[in-house]
Amino acid sequence: MQQVTVRCTIDNCYYWRDGNVCDAKEILVTSDMVGQRYPGQVDVQQLSTVLREVGETPAKTCQETCCKTFRA
Ligand code: SF4
Repeated sequence: MQQVTVRCTIDNCYYWRDGNVCDAKEILVTSDMVGQRYPGQVDVQQLSTVLREVGETPAKTCQETCCKTFRA
């Protein structure tokens, strides 16, 4: 599988590291709608639940997406 370096400016996130690098093993990027429907309890481990209950979540703009792995 291709490795991806995630660069991020959310410097108060638990996974954020110097140089604006995300140190999480994997992250869940999803739509704002999913973020609002599952505010705290859903991350990568619950992706199958999201897909079963909501399905795929296409977005028209980057403003409609969020990192669901964020942890303060
Ligand atoms: S988990 Fe998300 S918000 Fe946190 S550092 Fe990684 S990309 Fe940024």
